Amino acid sequence: MTWPRLVMDINGIRSNTEKIVEKCQKNGVQISGVTKGVCAHPEVVSAMVEGGCSFLADSRLKNLLEIKVFGYELPLMLMRIPGLSEIPDVVKYVDYVFISMPETLEFLEKECSYQHKHQKVIIMMDLGDLREGMLQNNITSFANKLSSCEMVKGAGLAVNFACFGGVLPDVLKLQDLVHSAERFEAILGYPLEIISGGATSSFQLIEKGLIPDRVNNLRIGEGILLGSDISGQRWIPDLSYQTMYLETEVIEIMTKPSVPFGKIGADAFGNVPVFRERGKRKRAIVAIGKQDLNINGITPFGKGIEVLGASSDHMILDIEDCDKDLSVGSRLRFSVNYSAMLSLTTSAYVEIITK
Ligand SMILES: *Cc1c(COP(=O)(O)O)cnc(C)c1O
Repeated sequence: MTWPRLVMDINGIRSNTEKIVEKCQKNGVQISGVTKGVCAHPEVVSAMVEGGCSFLADSRLKNLLEIKVFGYELPLMLMRIPGLSEIPDVVKYVDYVFISMPETLEFLEKECSYQHKHQKVIIMMDLGDLREGMLQNNITSFANKLSSCEMVKGAGLAVNFACFGGVLPDVLKLQDLVHSAERFEAILGYPLEIISGGATSSFQLIEKGLIPDRVNNLRIGEGILLGSDISGQRWIPDLSYQTMYLETEVIEIMTKPSVPFGKIGADAFGNVPVFRERGKRKRAIVAIGKQDLNINGITPFGKGIEVLGASSDHMILDIEDCDKDLSVGSRLRFSVNYSAMLSLTTSAYVEIITK
């Protein structure tokens, strides 16, 4: 038995999947279960499959290859536009790949000829969030290039919201996406199979019944995994929220001054820390640190515990006002948001426990 551990409620995740899938189905929208938030943990992937997802999607090729090894039947989507170095594996293993660059398309076409395989691509459109994606004024030239490909086939269009620019999804943006798809179709001469209207942040449009008819896919990670929608700053109604928590072990408890004493330089991360004088305070150190965890993404269970900060391997808590009787060996739990979950599941030092 080792700590720290991330404890996951697989039933909660499965039931979140079922509820999201059901609501989307009523609106003609299929779900790509997004697995990157938990590093494609096999039990979570199974829960997404059992919960009714139609596709599995990840931004890391490595995660998709692992999913492939486990033998799930659902088609796989690579959502991060691939590097040229990844293209041989993309053609070998990935069913749908997101792209935005003509160079990538050329490379894909060559690799497909080499492997004698067809490849479906989903064109990522940038409708204002300014992360990856093609701008609408390039549709004609890109569509012409795609239409001249023999092995690569246009499977659809996708859009991101709230990833970099904080731009929120709305009906007008999604109608724009559908118009872009129609412009592609006019040049390609065949219908696009998938119009993917975004991620968890687009789910509110499903709840309000506002999703345009032709949008038939969403790529959902956060909503399924945590029941939250961070860009909408809300919990999604009817879902399970405490689907996972972090449990850490206390390795030191002492009452110490609240302000460091001695000559002050920068801390281990190059920042000069600032402290408020609060007198002597009881503190606990738990065995986890910034190497494992984005400490801004956690909230302690119970009252009177405050995260003061962390170095690579130690997290320091103020427990002066905690009414629990803590000692060395005690375990402290924290709820996690998406960024904490992401960091914890990719740390080699955190054990993942499912129940
Ligand atoms: C991570 C990711 C998603 C899923 O986002 P959630 O907010 O977790 O639902 C969807 N699309 C792309 C391209 C992503 O990278």
